[in-house]
Amino acid sequence: MKSLKSAWVAALVMCMAMLSMSSVQLKAEELTEEQVQEGQQFVINNAIFILFHEAGHMLVSEFNLPVLGREEDAVDALSAVLLLGAEDEELNTTMQDAADGWFLLDEANEDGPQEDDFMGTHGLDRQRAYAIVCMMTGANAEFFKVFADSLEFPEERRQECVYEYQKARDSWMSLLAANMKEGAKTRFDVSYQPAGNEDLQGFADLLKSAGALETIATVFGEGYDLKDGIKITGKSCGVENAFWDPEAREITYCYEMAAFHADLIATWFANNQGTEEATGDDATSEETDATAVKVKKKE
Ligand SMILES: [Zn+2]
Repeated sequence: MKSLKSAWVAALVMCMAMLSMSSVQLKAEELTEEQVQEGQQFVINNAIFILFHEAGHMLVSEFNLPVLGREEDAVDALSAVLLLGAEDEELNTTMQDAADGWFLLDEANEDGPQEDDFMGTHGLDRQRAYAIVCMMTGANAEFFKVFADSLEFPEERRQECVYEYQKARDSWMSLLAANMKEGAKTRFDVSYQPAGNEDLQGFADLLKSAGALETIATVFGEGYDLKDGIKITGKSCGVENAFWDPEAREITYCYEMAAFHADLIATWFANNQGTEEATGDDATSEETDATAVKVKKKE
């Protein structure tokens, strides 16, 4: 873990220097061990959510599934349904980090959404965040209560989200059922290409040690009637992105995306340094996981 930590810190320093964010007072070296670990987990969890999203595009294209409405929203919902459906505390935390990721992205965009964003294929960042929160509280209102409360997510909306989650889950499951096959196994080709520079290599190593790309190969490698040879590739792309290429039958996750999420969370740590201390270090109750809310609703 030591070498991972130094790679992470080096990469963070690079990010901050590169973006020359004057608002960031905290140097990466000053992060506590706990913050480093939480930051690493945040990066990994956001990568996993995004990989599930791309896997959703993969299923739509490989099975030629009908999509009513915006595909980007539909595959976000699939990510949520699969991760929440596992009813696993770790994966619930993945969802919290994914929601926080979109909130942080929204906050980082100081000028707010532009015309291009309204015209784009995706929902606005804050809409994507709240859509994930809706799936979370719809799936497990009790577990995510503290999280939803911290966002002042309205009770009335939570009621609607129960229905919306069930509808999303049942719709996806009925579509997928026709493309599932008992005992089916699919071989995926997972590769982490060398990043080509030391800083991004730190993120490549982090994702590799967490088996982030392998998660997709494991989850979709059994029971789905997919042909062998779908590639899942981590590489440097020169841009923060992740995508499914139907021609190449390949999911690509760009290491720049991980660096970007690392920067988002490091900036958050820098801006909320006092808050954490105020809550004290001994908050080791069972609530700790559920209250790991990194973003508060904008005033
Ligand atoms: Zn997409």
